[in-house]
Order: sequence, then C-alpha cells, then structure tokens
Amino acid sequence: MTSVPAATSANRNSRPQTTLTVLRREQLSPHMVRIVAGGPGFASYVNNAYVDRYIKIAFPQPGIDYPQPLDLWAVRESHPRDQWPHTRTYTVRWVNDDAAELAIDFVIHGDEGLAGPWAASARPGDTLIFTGPGGGYNPDPTADWHLFAGDESALPAIGAVLEALPADARGLAFLEVDSEADILPLEAPAGVELRWLLRRGAPAGGAGLLPEAVRTASWPEGRVSVFAHGERGYMKALREVFFAERGLERGQVSLSGYWARGRVEDDFQAEKKLPIGKI
Ligand SMILES: Cc1cc2nc3c(=O)[nH]c(=O)nc-3n(C[C@H](O)[C@H](O)[C@H](O)COP(=O)(O)OP(=O)(O)OC[C@H]3O[C@@H](n4cnc5c(N)ncnc54)[C@H](O)[C@@H]3O)c2cc1C
Repeated sequence: MTSVPAATSANRNSRPQTTLTVLRREQLSPHMVRIVAGGPGFASYVNNAYVDRYIKIAFPQPGIDYPQPLDLWAVRESHPRDQWPHTRTYTVRWVNDDAAELAIDFVIHGDEGLAGPWAASARPGDTLIFTGPGGGYNPDPTADWHLFAGDESALPAIGAVLEALPADARGLAFLEVDSEADILPLEAPAGVELRWLLRRGAPAGGAGLLPEAVRTASWPEGRVSVFAHGERGYMKALREVFFAERGLERGQVSLSGYWARGRVEDDFQAEKKLPIGKI
C-alpha cells in the first residue's frame, strides 16, 4: 500500500472529491477559456470560506487501469504513486449555488501540458474530476489599501478577490497579459486602479514587466495588504520588492508561485516542498 506523503495533510475529508460535467466553454480572450461545469455531482461540492479557493483537477494517466467510477482517494491507496492521476491546480472563479454550477478560467498557453490543452478543447458532456477546495486568503479589512500583482494564471483569483472587496476599498492592481485583447473586464471598486501590463509577444513569465512595474510604482500612503501570485521567477523578484525593499511584514503579504517557466506542475509542486523550492 502506498501511503500519502507526509507533506500532504489533505485527505478525503479535508479535500473531498467532486465529479462534474462540463456544461459550456466560453472563450474569454485569446489566451483564456472559461469552463462552466455542474450536473448531479454539484450536490457534493462543499464551498469554503476563502476568496482564493482552488481545486486540484485530476487527469487520469492513459494505460492505467483505474476502478470506475474513479475515486481519487481510493486510487491513492490501491495504486503506487507514479500511477496516480496527474493533478493541476485551478482557482474556482465563481460558484452559483442556485444554478448548481461553477466556473474555472484556464490560461491557454499552447500545446504543452494537460490542463491548458484539455480546456481548449473541452466539450459539453466531458467529465471534470477534482478534489478540494483549498484556499487561504480573504481581503484584510484593516488594510489602508490593497496591492494586487499577477499574470494570467492569477487573473481568476485576483478577479474573485476584487469582486469580494468592500465598495470603498482602495488599491492598485498590476496585471500582466500578452496583449490588449487579453484584458478582461474585471469588476473592481472605483478606488482600485487596474494597471494592465502588455508583453506583446514576449514569453509569459519572461518579460519581467510585472515585478518591474510593482518596484517602480509610487505606492499610496498607509498600511498595504498584498496579494501576488503567478510565475515563480516573478514571485521571487516580487518577494525582494516586498520584503527587502519595502520592508513589509509577512502577515501583510499573500505571495506564491502558481506555475514555473519550463516546468510541468508535477515537478514544480514537488520542488515547492523542498527548501530550494520555497519562495
Ligand atoms: C493555487 C493556484 C491557483 C491557480 N489558478 C489558476 C487558474 O485559475 N487558471 C490558470 O490558468 N492557472 C492557474 N494556476 C496555474 C496552473 O496550475 C499552472 O499553470 C499549471 O501548470 C497548468 O497546467 P498544464 O497542465 O496546463 O501545464 P503543465 O503540464 O503544468 O506545464 C506544461 C508547460 O506549460 C508551461 N505553463 C504552465 N502554465 C503556464 C501559463 N499559465 N502560462 C504559460 N506557460 C505555462 C509550463 O512552464 C510547462 O513548460 C493556479 C496555480 C495555483 C498553485
């Protein structure tokens, strides 16, 4: 029997499995697709209290004999780790309990990978299996202002947080995308300025626009609360800005790598658990 690794405290109770059916696919921009899913399995989806709630979507490996219907937690006990379905982490963009559906926005980043290509061609009737949600962030009501920084992968989380802010919230959001066509109509309080940074064909996570824009911006006065997520190298650069240059305290900053250039999520998440992989 393969035991769940010590670094993973999640289990069937803390991260239950949900099996949904794809209802529709919406092209939000050239590089972003929204999958809306629901169906009978929605009844077992248990929301949590975090605004940045995320799920682990399962991608069964071809050629492995999994018991059907697929029970991810049972597979963890019956199969060796290298046969478990691959997982990819995604923000739950919104949940509509009345309609019994939820939405996930996927960055379309080319032919590589599992989740991006799956979302690009998903059709109504396809199955979506995931565990979760997890999460860890809610806007700090005591902050004088909020700073958001992210690339496309963090737009769903930042979009959800912006919608959850009180109407009188103030802040600055630095959002890096490829081109004007990738700018999304995010709803934000009037006091939160959205600054879109355009790579114009430069590789995602490689143009350096996001950390540079945050570093060189003139910051409003007062105590800031930061929500910064995206490509790992960007987040390492931003960590320097927030802690070394601006002297922020840990409790003021929610920061993590959502993906890493040149690395599939399995490797990237494994690295995150090693000292060398910690941001
Ligand atoms: C908490 C959390 C929430 C997240 N929420 C979202 C979300 O809502 N929407 C979303 O799209 N992503 C989100 N991500 C990021 C997503 O999990 C990764 O981008 C993931 O690697 C995508 O899996 P894949 O199978 O498409 O590509 P992988 O198989 O992991 O990677 C294949 C190749 O594609 C590259 N790649 C991966 N992601 C990107 C990208 N965004 N841009 C350019 N190249 C990329 C990799 O570097 C690699 O070279 C989130 C991550 C975390 C940790």
